[in-house]
Amino acid sequence: KQLLANRVKTLTPSTTLAITAKAKELKEQGIDVIGLGAGEPDFNTPQNILIAAKESMDAGYTKYTPAGGLPALKKAIIDKLARDNSLTYKANEIIVGVGAKHVLYTLFQVILNEGDEVIIPIPYWVSYPEQVKLAGGVPVYVEGTQEQSYKITPQQLRDAITEKTKAVIINSPSNPSGMIYTKEELAELAKVAEEKDILIVSDEIYEKLVYNGIEHYSIAQISDAIKARTIVVNGVAKSHSMTGWRIGYAAGDAAIIKAMTDLASHSTSNSTTTAQYATIEAYNGSQETVEKMRQAFESRLEVIFPKIAAIPGVKVLKPQGAFYLLPDVSETAAKTGYLSVDDFASALLTEANVAVIPGSGFGSPTTIRLSYATSLELLEEAVRRIEAFVKAKW
Ligand code: PLP
Repeated sequence: KQLLANRVKTLTPSTTLAITAKAKELKEQGIDVIGLGAGEPDFNTPQNILIAAKESMDAGYTKYTPAGGLPALKKAIIDKLARDNSLTYKANEIIVGVGAKHVLYTLFQVILNEGDEVIIPIPYWVSYPEQVKLAGGVPVYVEGTQEQSYKITPQQLRDAITEKTKAVIINSPSNPSGMIYTKEELAELAKVAEEKDILIVSDEIYEKLVYNGIEHYSIAQISDAIKARTIVVNGVAKSHSMTGWRIGYAAGDAAIIKAMTDLASHSTSNSTTTAQYATIEAYNGSQETVEKMRQAFESRLEVIFPKIAAIPGVKVLKPQGAFYLLPDVSETAAKTGYLSVDDFASALLTEANVAVIPGSGFGSPTTIRLSYATSLELLEEAVRRIEAFVKAKW
């Protein structure tokens, strides 16, 4: 008998995690690798959050909580959504889960029947297609090219919708492109979703990392009707530098949230109690550190962007949010003797000792993703290495 279920036969490990692991391995061998693969802020979790976590443990709050999250945390999330996004939710419209990643996983499990289609804009976050497939769904890709700022148009969305379409995923600010949909663009996409009666999965995990005075806008804010068909997914990983705490949440239709909570009650149960208490403080406490971290990312971007743009052959848009650059390096790869950008990225790691993520994992095989969630000093050194590598082979 075959060992593994059909369900996991085509499952591929997350490229982001794979490259990060490879870079770590080289580092452990004593090789001076600079990792630009990271998908997490390089700052410590703010002190007030650590204190709240410790206090909760000392107070004995180390037992199970309700599967969908502590009432006090749901309240903090409801307050956050009202304060930051002008969105009103009730407690039965919120679920807290084990990171936004697992919340999305649970969401697809409860909304997709076998063969249901989910529209995924390219370039996409690596886990969307796998999660959709694991739920029996079919990813339908729509490409937002670099010429259209890596965003999809309402017409593209309309053309991709079939009888089987259940939902579209909107990730703004985007990982990996760093692009942000404007309020007007979101309104147009929402109009199509409403007309065609599909759900909108709005992944807003990079909400707090926006630059150049741009403001984050949630597609759920367009109207009550759009809010009713939108599931907002967010968390504290990127905003509060809490990646390891594994807290994310969804806000949306009560029946969907109930199904997700029921599923969680048989899979994860509650997310870690201490992490939930930490997140209450993350939302109810001072947001000063969140803004300081944002400013640090923005100043790095200002320094590093022109340098990346100046590397021969590179075509790159200036990101508006998140902490990634997504240069198209197809010309650079070709001119330096590589058949593909994947090969170019592998050579960057082994020959120039800079780890980047090849865009093929995001459906964008002409690009590489560079994360600037690392110190300016390392970023500048990494760019020097990439530039020297390219110039030597050009
Ligand atoms: N969504 C996007 C677009 C992400 O980039 C990430 C993390 O890399 C997540 C969701 C998951 O975040 P979390 O750490 O809360 O699971």
